[in-house]
Amino acid sequence: MPNTCARCGSSKIIPGVPLWDHIGDFGVRASPSRVEVHGDPDAFVMKDTAFGELSVNICGECGHAELVASDAPALWEKYEKSRS
Ligand SMILES: [Zn+2]
Repeated sequence: MPNTCARCGSSKIIPGVPLWDHIGDFGVRASPSRVEVHGDPDAFVMKDTAFGELSVNICGECGHAELVASDAPALWEKYEKSRS
């Protein structure tokens, strides 16, 4: 968890704000934004994918927003596999 803002140095950090992905003009359906890293990106169907949900750490002084992905070790593992 961050203690200070990377841009202005303030300690007014709002940690872990969910980043919602709204579907449609009225935002009726929403789901957490997420990233995907494929262990086998060239596969036609089974790409051996790891998912990470995104959250945001927001500075309450300057508004700097920093994205954080969950399950980073699993994402890294798939990335390493894709390079071998
Ligand atoms: Zn700041």
